[in-house]
Amino acid sequence: MSILIQNGTLILPQGPVQSDLRVEGETIVQIGPALPVGESQVLDAAGKLVFPGFIDTHTHFEMNKGTLRETADNWATGTRAALAGGTTCVLDFAEPERGCSLQSALDEWHNRAGGNASCHYGFHMTIKDWDPRIRAELPAMTAQGVTSYKVYLAYANIRIPDAVAFQAIEAVATEGGVVGCHCENGDLIDCAVARLKAAGRLSPASHPLAHTPAMEAEAVTRWLALAEEAGYPVNVVHLSTRRGLEAARAARARGQKLYLESCPQYLTLTEECYQLPGFEGAKYVCAPPLRAQSDVDALWEALSGDEIDTIGTDHCSFRFNPTKMLGRDDFSAIPGGIPGTEHRPCLMYTFGVKAGRITLLQMMQALSERPAKLFGMFPQKGTLAVGSDADIVIFDPDHTWRIEAAHQYQNVDYTPYEAMEMAGRTDTVLLSGQVAVSGGKVIRESLGRYIRRGGAQFWR
Ligand SMILES: [Zn+2]
Repeated sequence: MSILIQNGTLILPQGPVQSDLRVEGETIVQIGPALPVGESQVLDAAGKLVFPGFIDTHTHFEMNKGTLRETADNWATGTRAALAGGTTCVLDFAEPERGCSLQSALDEWHNRAGGNASCHYGFHMTIKDWDPRIRAELPAMTAQGVTSYKVYLAYANIRIPDAVAFQAIEAVATEGGVVGCHCENGDLIDCAVARLKAAGRLSPASHPLAHTPAMEAEAVTRWLALAEEAGYPVNVVHLSTRRGLEAARAARARGQKLYLESCPQYLTLTEECYQLPGFEGAKYVCAPPLRAQSDVDALWEALSGDEIDTIGTDHCSFRFNPTKMLGRDDFSAIPGGIPGTEHRPCLMYTFGVKAGRITLLQMMQALSERPAKLFGMFPQKGTLAVGSDADIVIFDPDHTWRIEAAHQYQNVDYTPYEAMEMAGRTDTVLLSGQVAVSGGKVIRESLGRYIRRGGAQFWR
């Protein structure tokens, strides 16, 4: 099976180039102007942008499985939504039960995803316990293609002490992987929540008050200090504040290597959403929370200056009714997380490229190339190059439309981006050389495969 993508603007590593691209089987075999059609099926991409498949570095599908607080999107619906938007690979967080092995979590996540995924997938591993037994599992994780880890500095049920974070960085360093961190000061969050509740301030408006910019900045600073002591690069996931960014800038100015992820919600929404009437603010409860416009502006500036490396979504969808409602009488009981994996590419195109804040090349780098490098998938994924996997997005930069929960693939009863006007849309997606999305509709499901990843490729 051979497909020729004709007349498109390819977003290549050196920038946009008018060119054709041929796929044979699952691989890109030819890139160049005016390629002969031959036996190939032709996809006309005139006036369209051709990207390497987008990689979502941060999803939580099928979380809290079997509980009242189960996420709305499982592996089938979550990856179908991701694919519809142009994401051809997601990296989801496998999380062991307390006291259980990393292998038990990896097995469980394979069970959940296997045969159900409509885009390719890999797993980050969450470290919540640390002992010689867990430490000894790391080589087996590497051998199974898990090379990235996550730790939390907040949340009673999952946070780890600084010493563990430090030892985890050192241990992952010997494997050539990378550790990301949820950077918020857990003690201060707990204090603030207790005080707000004691004062009877129980609405979603209290949520950002319990997760202040100082709490993020302190944890980013501490995390980077731990990494400095360990002498190994780390990742900061879902950076949301100017102050957190400044902490990272200061570390870089001292010569430290580090990587930053942010998310569309921190680039397109603000904390005003928590003031919405009734319980509407609950739809935006995620951690870290949405921030001030000055933070949004600072993150865009950092993205345009190539200081932010990757854009993931932290997709963690909960139904407004009944799941978010669990916190109707207590903001701290609102399940934290919002949907977004379906809309990340069009949001970044609309508010980034179309608004003149970033270039097409920068969008490609943040959504495809750098995720593939940092998480050990490059150059098979993350680039349009001869020999690379044929995971390809044909994006229509002239198709204006509105995001509406009523017409989304995400299996959730709202979207934080409701009624937002989009300047472009994913039209066609090739997954391993097969047309899986056409005209914005998913036409082939369950083709997703597990991606066995290699070590991190650091470029800074
Ligand atoms: Zn997350």
